[in-house]
Amino acid sequence: MIQLQSADQLKRATERARAGKLFVQATAMFRHYRVTNRENRNAYIVNFFVRAGKRFGYCTCLAGVVNNTACKHLSVAAGLHMIRRAARRVRGDG
Ligand SMILES: [Zn+2]
Repeated sequence: MIQLQSADQLKRATERARAGKLFVQATAMFRHYRVTNRENRNAYIVNFFVRAGKRFGYCTCLAGVVNNTACKHLSVAAGLHMIRRAARRVRGDG
């Protein structure tokens, strides 16, 4: 689990994600995303949550758990999450 503090924090991971072949899907669970690597078919679940007013992200992959850094899955999921959040705001339901 890592705290999401800035866009810069995710920038390098986003670059890594572009190099890989990652595919992000929203799941039926609120704030949960499935990230699939098209090359090796590995899939991880990323979830975002707020605790004490701070935003956090969690990924089920080893990098996300061990290194306490933004892994590439978390980074690409954050991109989709921000787009969806902005869309909800436009519709006026969140
Ligand atoms: Zn990950």
